[in-house]
Amino acid sequence: MVYSMKKWVFCCLLFGGMLRAQQRDYPISPVAFTRVKLTDAFWSLRIELNRTVTIPASFARCESTGRVSNFVMAAARKGKFCTKFPFDDTDIYKTIEGASYSLAVHPDPVLSAYVDALIDTVARAQEPDGYLYTARTIDSLHPHPWSGPDRWVKEHELSHELYNSGHMFEAASAHYLATGQRNFLDIALKNADLLVRTFGPGKRSVAPGHEIVEMGLVRLYRITGKKEYLELAKFFIDQRGHRTYDKTSTDEWKNGEYWQDDKPVTDQEEAEGHAVRAMYLYSGMADVAALTGDKEYIAAIDRIWNDMVGKKIYVQGGIGAVGSGERFGADYELPNATAYNETCAAIGDVFWNQRMFLLHADAKYIDLLEKVLYNGLLSGVGLDGKSFFYTNAMQVTDSFTHPDLERERSGWFECSCCPTNMLRLLPSLPGYIYAQKGHDLYINLFIPDTAKLVVDGKALRVVQENDYPWKGDLSFTLLPDVPVSMGLRIRVPGWARGEAIPGGLYVFDNKETQKVVIRVNGTVAAYKMEEGYAVMDRVWKPGDKVTMELPMRVQEVQASAKVPEDAGKVTIQRGPLVYCAEWKDNGGKVSDIAVSKGIVFTPVVRPDLLGGVTVLQSSKLTMIPYYAWANRGKGEMTVWVKEK
Ligand SMILES: [Zn+2]
Repeated sequence: MVYSMKKWVFCCLLFGGMLRAQQRDYPISPVAFTRVKLTDAFWSLRIELNRTVTIPASFARCESTGRVSNFVMAAARKGKFCTKFPFDDTDIYKTIEGASYSLAVHPDPVLSAYVDALIDTVARAQEPDGYLYTARTIDSLHPHPWSGPDRWVKEHELSHELYNSGHMFEAASAHYLATGQRNFLDIALKNADLLVRTFGPGKRSVAPGHEIVEMGLVRLYRITGKKEYLELAKFFIDQRGHRTYDKTSTDEWKNGEYWQDDKPVTDQEEAEGHAVRAMYLYSGMADVAALTGDKEYIAAIDRIWNDMVGKKIYVQGGIGAVGSGERFGADYELPNATAYNETCAAIGDVFWNQRMFLLHADAKYIDLLEKVLYNGLLSGVGLDGKSFFYTNAMQVTDSFTHPDLERERSGWFECSCCPTNMLRLLPSLPGYIYAQKGHDLYINLFIPDTAKLVVDGKALRVVQENDYPWKGDLSFTLLPDVPVSMGLRIRVPGWARGEAIPGGLYVFDNKETQKVVIRVNGTVAAYKMEEGYAVMDRVWKPGDKVTMELPMRVQEVQASAKVPEDAGKVTIQRGPLVYCAEWKDNGGKVSDIAVSKGIVFTPVVRPDLLGGVTVLQSSKLTMIPYYAWANRGKGEMTVWVKEK
């Protein structure tokens, strides 16, 4: 019994938690992170820091700030909710989720026991019918002001009851798939069954005020096969756009845009409103579309993706430009001095782009995912693994202050969504490197690792070696047990093909490119390009080695003339990394720097600096990778530099 359970869980991990009996799903399957062992220097270090520093620190904060006490009080049905927001429960769920991913590849009995004890506390806080929301359960006569006098009555705006459920479903699924234990999953299913009894046609309806329950329900559906969960996810998505708002109001809180609730989702054209909510909605739509074949959902998220990438994204991949409402701005409204760029929005953007790739098999989604990952997302965590940005600035000057503008990272926040979101993303990162469809293998990210796959029923190991993101020479050794017919599809990043970003919002000054040369066992090999992939379909033998070199040229980047904020300015990119100028390397000040056109930068390897980086040095200016800024004290920083 124990053996067969383990075997079943293993299969779930192997197939990314997908239920094999399902008829329809994403046409492409990611290779689960448990099958991919990193051997790199860049991400492994961060994932290890996440395991040894960030996760324990996060659990400690959940205790010291009262988040755990809220559950203890809810279990006793007595006390006073003692943190600020009704969604503070989710920090515990997300930390358990991150810990679960970590436990899946790094057994740790002490951590397991701690997580189990916490899950036990969560179980006791759950009401008998499955309701789980400490902000009400502690003292149902005096719930949190955002929660409303009765269950669900404020769900369409700020109660976050379904938001809490969604994060719990994600965490419980991760915990179950990682450990094979049902203790957290059973809590989640009891809550999901309450939602099924409460919401749906002929029952209550609501457009969830902060999306994520849709993705969470899909994860429970994948594990259980219970179609009611999938139907409810779709039901929630379809409730958007039916509430009465003042559509003429310019206040997006009142006209519905903030909640992506001003129009039915299938009529939506633009990335709008609160950026994290938006990313979770579009991700949920992709999931439901993959499982139901809903073409209208796909058409809508395709339109919205084009809008976001073409008009509403920063050059380092940040989204949600406007602090008031943590939201997308108008077209091309991308201010530098007040850029908001919530870390959670970057994380949500990774979730969404991965799903768009799994739907469409186009490398442009991974191009964007990579841009976000190495730049606007990674800046959200400090090199110490325990300091975080909630917002990610584009420009910091000594003369300008703004309440939204963070100049240094903090250990935690009153609203601490970003640190806990970061700690659940990082350990799952190996799951973004490879994907499969039939006998095709996609190599999306360039992170040294050993991956164990099955192609055409044959076991295959792939050994990836490189020094990315610093160097462009890549090597992939294929070790099938026996020769295997396989379509190898290696992403040739947009930046290596003269494209700063899909859609042209930012462009390289020098767009000339040379075709990337690929060698197999040292001999130049023919390949064809399909949707951003170099494709080689052939029989691969044990030990076949594929090598290629991506051009790590220093590239000047300019914004489209439609972005007035960046007119006459330039930034620098090398490989996937966008660079910035920081005070420390530039005489204490960067706000007054201007460079002449065609300025030459020389890459200089600095193992001693910022955990080991390649800086870009010119006669006037030294630039560091954007992700590494704000690790050496407070001071000026700018991504864009004026051009003389
Ligand atoms: Zn956040």
